[in-house]
Amino acid sequence: MGINQAKQIVLEAGKHLLEKEFVSRTWGNVSQRVDKNTCVATPSGRKYEELTINDIVAVNLADNSYTGDIKPSSEYKLHTEVYRTRKNINAVIHTHQMNASTVAAARREVPPILDDMVQIIGPTVRVADYALPSTRKIVKTTVKALKGRQAALMANHGAVCIGADMNEAFVVTEVLEKACKAFIEAEFLGQAKEINKFEAHFMHRYYLLKYSKKVKSNK
Ligand SMILES: [Zn+2]
Repeated sequence: MGINQAKQIVLEAGKHLLEKEFVSRTWGNVSQRVDKNTCVATPSGRKYEELTINDIVAVNLADNSYTGDIKPSSEYKLHTEVYRTRKNINAVIHTHQMNASTVAAARREVPPILDDMVQIIGPTVRVADYALPSTRKIVKTTVKALKGRQAALMANHGAVCIGADMNEAFVVTEVLEKACKAFIEAEFLGQAKEINKFEAHFMHRYYLLKYSKKVKSNK
């Protein structure tokens, strides 16, 4: 993928997230892998509605360095660590979306409660241990919570959603928000009832197998 194409994808994803109210003002951030050495990310401290392609920052995956005067968004080291450790992941979205933030504030792991969540995200959505924003610790705890999953909650902060491409990361973001809303409301109705763990693992593996085939045939 060319760098300008990747920047365009990030720009459009940022505006789309704003429309969906998954991010607001300058919070949250989006990135796209360009190649094995580079990703492009939204900048720090700029409003999504005012972003242009020239504001999107290229970051070196090996040493987190970036070129130009514009700083990448605060959690960019989390994005680069995801690209370093998850070779099949090419898009990362970090949001402060409402329902995921509520579950993250309660520090409750989302159990396997809906078929689409289980297929697309994984058998559970873990909560990363609390760490101050933009620290090495938040990178470590969040990447650990993401293991074998397409999303994780960040305690008292928000969520991170990942995908083989930006479209998949976006679907993960939407499914996560729906699952968190269903979890909160099912708990109020008495209790959220879980899908059998074995069946949950099976459904996720089946989805990944089917999906990775689709990605290959699209190339
Ligand atoms: Zn954040």
